[in-house]
Amino acid sequence: MDIKKLDTKFVLSTYARTDVEFVSGKNATLLDANAKKYIDFTAGIGVVSVGHANERVNEAITKQIAKLTHASNLYHIAPQAKAAQKIVDASGYDMQCFFGNSGAEANEGAIKIARKYGEINGEVKKYKIITLTHSFHGRTITTVKATGQEAMHNYFGPFPDGFVYAKDVDEIKSLLDNHTCAVMIELVQGEGGVEAQNKEKIQNLEKLLRSKNILLIVDEVQTGGYRTGEFLASQVYGITPDIITLAKGIGGGVPIGVVMTSLKDVLKAGDHGSTFGGNYLSCAATCEVMDILKEYKESGELERHSLVFNQAVNSLYEKHQDIFTAKVGIGMMCGLRVKDADTLSRIISNAKDNGVMVLKAGRNTLRFLPPLTITREEIDEGFKSLESAINSI
Ligand SMILES: *Cc1c(COP(=O)(O)O)cnc(C)c1O
Repeated sequence: MDIKKLDTKFVLSTYARTDVEFVSGKNATLLDANAKKYIDFTAGIGVVSVGHANERVNEAITKQIAKLTHASNLYHIAPQAKAAQKIVDASGYDMQCFFGNSGAEANEGAIKIARKYGEINGEVKKYKIITLTHSFHGRTITTVKATGQEAMHNYFGPFPDGFVYAKDVDEIKSLLDNHTCAVMIELVQGEGGVEAQNKEKIQNLEKLLRSKNILLIVDEVQTGGYRTGEFLASQVYGITPDIITLAKGIGGGVPIGVVMTSLKDVLKAGDHGSTFGGNYLSCAATCEVMDILKEYKESGELERHSLVFNQAVNSLYEKHQDIFTAKVGIGMMCGLRVKDADTLSRIISNAKDNGVMVLKAGRNTLRFLPPLTITREEIDEGFKSLESAINSI
């Protein structure tokens, strides 16, 4: 069967797909339909944090679905309660969780909590949410509007009111007013170009917001799940947000989204919900992923792998000063700025031909989001292929 033809005929063309079809994988290695092998520096855009076909996750999922896959949020769900405990424990914050199915949905939950908080606290209705111009918060109508990139607002209006964009963290202060209920930011912008915020500026922002009773929402959909070295980038930055969102890496490939908050009493029964969110399947997977990554972190392996990976990125950067202009990011969320967008497309396409998958972020950033469990052998092989991809442009 010609999958490409089938795909083109029956699936809406919302993606400019690369012409490759993966059929199986193991850790950071993928096989396509022609049995060609690739090293995966993308992890399905930061999703497959514990590697492809992880045996522990597969076993946890199959054990769970042999008993129950779904029963609804009308009843107690043991894996959901356990996943929430693991997530809250790993964060170190005094918070509670709500479960959805994606990053955008987690951010919708965060926006609803912030808006309701702003409505029931204070004399005037506080509803404005400040985000950054290069942010990315999702694809629903509301999260498209929360995303500060102008190009995303070309169609689909009218949008919900109340989103205000700051060009950087410094500009946020001048945009706060009596109607501001929250600031929502990524500590390392993912889609925006692997741009890490300055730690001191973020800590000052936290203090400023706290003094004005304005909430801080941190979108950790891409940074969360140990991607930046700690469970949350908020821990790396030494801050305590009011609301945090998670998705991508914490389900090991199974769809899940989480909004967690210290504002435990804002949402009441009936204020928010999800049919699929937090079901037996996604939460059994998440529980296992959380356990695997906790062991990884505590044994020091996460840090060793991150070090080896970053050394390889550094040496590529140093060897090709004519192509790369900066190394960016934190931990296993890193990238190289490329001198122009055209060179970057050629690197990505050559890399694929050479058997290594890499990502683009923003206009000109070569982005790496490998499985956190990538081995030294996979790292060596991937960078060898990437090196020859670069040499052949
Ligand atoms: C991917 C991403 C989202 C959207 O997540 P979906 O699961 O695609 O809805 C939101 N915020 C950030 C920071 C992301 O990286």
